Amino acid sequence: MKCECGGKFEPYKENVDGISMDCLKCNNCGKILYTSEQMKDFMSMKTLVKKTTTKRKIIILGHSYAITLPKSLEKIGLTAGQRVSMRMTGRKTLEVKFGEEVEASKAEEVVK
Ligand SMILES: [Zn+2]
Repeated sequence: MKCECGGKFEPYKENVDGISMDCLKCNNCGKILYTSEQMKDFMSMKTLVKKTTTKRKIIILGHSYAITLPKSLEKIGLTAGQRVSMRMTGRKTLEVKFGEEVEASKAEEVVK
């Protein structure tokens, strides 16, 4: 697809509110474009982010702490029994990752 400046649109990932979104970027002027499919995905992600941004209470589960997660996260592939990886990203922030990259590193030690 060509841009009005004469450049060419190429696949690009734009960071919107911390979420990487698929879009197209002109290799000449840098104009960002979303296809209707990408715009649909963008809107549903925005809705999901709003829906899943909640406050939760830490509960005790056996000898561990646990946090319940909104079931609506299954829309982005989160399921029960799935492995997640977790790391501190600051003094008061945790990052929880799930999906292919976590499954790929299954060989890593799982800490209880
Ligand atoms: Zn352009």
